[in-house]
Amino acid sequence: MSENHGSGDRDVGGEGSKERTVRHPPHGFRLGDGFVIEEPRRLPLRHRCQVLVCGAGPAGVGAALAAAREGADVILLERWAMAGGMWTAGLVNPFFEWREKGFLVAELIARLESAGAWKLWVKDYCFDPEAMKLTLETMLAEAGVELLYYTLAVDAIRCGDRVRGAVIESKAGREAILADVVIDASGDGDLAARAGCEFRFGSPVDGFVQPMTLMFEIDPIHGLRHRNSGELYDWLRAAIEATGSDFELPFPRYSAAPYVITLPCDAGGAVQATHVYRLNPLDPADLTGATVATRRQAHELTRLLRTMPPFRDVRITATAPAIGLRESRRIIGCATLTRDDLAAGRRFEDAVCAVRFGVDIHRAAGAGTTPDPAHGIRMRPYEIPFRCLLPRDVRGLLLAGRCISGDHYAHASYRVTGSMMATGQAAGLAAAWAVGQGCDPADIDGRRLRRVLAERGCRFLPDDA
Ligand SMILES: Cc1cc2nc3c(=O)[nH]c(=O)nc-3n(C[C@H](O)[C@H](O)[C@H](O)COP(=O)(O)OP(=O)(O)OC[C@H]3O[C@@H](n4cnc5c(N)ncnc54)[C@H](O)[C@@H]3O)c2cc1C
Repeated sequence: MSENHGSGDRDVGGEGSKERTVRHPPHGFRLGDGFVIEEPRRLPLRHRCQVLVCGAGPAGVGAALAAAREGADVILLERWAMAGGMWTAGLVNPFFEWREKGFLVAELIARLESAGAWKLWVKDYCFDPEAMKLTLETMLAEAGVELLYYTLAVDAIRCGDRVRGAVIESKAGREAILADVVIDASGDGDLAARAGCEFRFGSPVDGFVQPMTLMFEIDPIHGLRHRNSGELYDWLRAAIEATGSDFELPFPRYSAAPYVITLPCDAGGAVQATHVYRLNPLDPADLTGATVATRRQAHELTRLLRTMPPFRDVRITATAPAIGLRESRRIIGCATLTRDDLAAGRRFEDAVCAVRFGVDIHRAAGAGTTPDPAHGIRMRPYEIPFRCLLPRDVRGLLLAGRCISGDHYAHASYRVTGSMMATGQAAGLAAAWAVGQGCDPADIDGRRLRRVLAERGCRFLPDDA
């Protein structure tokens, strides 16, 4: 028998034993009234790199690949165990707005297609989420991106008016990464917000962001294939009445959803039919409540489907590892894209991509409430300027993905994945150029960026658009 006494990091056991006893000195805290004071601490420097990208969703992957291929030394950090963000952890499908984005978006699709993981569904294209994970990891490895999963960026290291890196937390504890340029591709704008950038949140009508949805996959779907959403709606309505279910259909009948999105590789179907309203995606209690509620909705909807003969054997094969967030912080940039820009179909000299997707606002306040008067706003194809990727309040930082600078309505259009990856590929190029030229990303010539993106296959709007 041995007695345990607290000890430092040292070898134990007999000769040849590799076992160690480890003790980290506890960090100092003081308790206040309603708060806790954390004593100053020294953070180990885990890495120093040229470009640090936070978040490996469509935008972050685009940013990391573009910067690395341009010669920068890049770290991409991600809190989950996969790249792809909503594509993979969110089980979101189909891939909207992939056309005319060129460059890395086109290459990703070509690779999915050659893997047999890209398939037409109604008028859009779907991908296999497992093939997406592998393809993204392959592309990142080929480009030499250093990928760090299981790592949460918890703070921005801001010195004066400049972001110099990020504080990260993982099983290894609290550490720092320093970088010449940081790209916030966290979707929620976590780093920009921590760096003190002003942001906007919620709809002007009621202050709520768009609802959250837990996607889920079902199989087999032979009875559901080729059924239109109107038919599905009628069947579900009838099943709700017959069984007295409390399931609330989140869409009216004339809408395109709820629907079952047929996946490639005989992987069944992805369902987008759960919704929770009025909750805050930045609060863990609300996120938990939303996840529990929507998982229950997913199982209830599947139970309703099973009451109908064509779907008797349908079962859930997976609920998404993470609930889907349509909207959270919109960081204020050097320019802000607005509904007026969409209505006018505005073009920009420093455009990073063109967008044709409509303004898609799932009623923010919930079924049965007054729809936002701007829902269904008529828009024309428009462009996103590079200045929306530059935060107004700090230097050394770029925005990519759904946290870029736009109003609630513009965001509801550009938020889909092809456009988000396009903002990432532009941010990655700008970051690598800033490193190469020893300047701030804000000093990068946006017209040159547009020209180079066009040379790499990105198609902007014609003069007479
Ligand atoms: C339910 C739903 C359905 C949708 N349907 C479609 C559709 O059919 N087609 C389409 O094209 N688009 C669709 N969208 C929109 C689209 O999925 C998102 O807007 C898009 O994925 C945004 O890309 P992003 O890279 O900015 O963010 P995300 O995809 O959210 O990726 C952000 C990444 O950052 C990571 N991250 C966040 N914070 C941190 C942190 N602090 N530290 C480390 N990592 C962090 C996350 O884990 C995640 O991997 C849908 C969205 C939802 C919610």
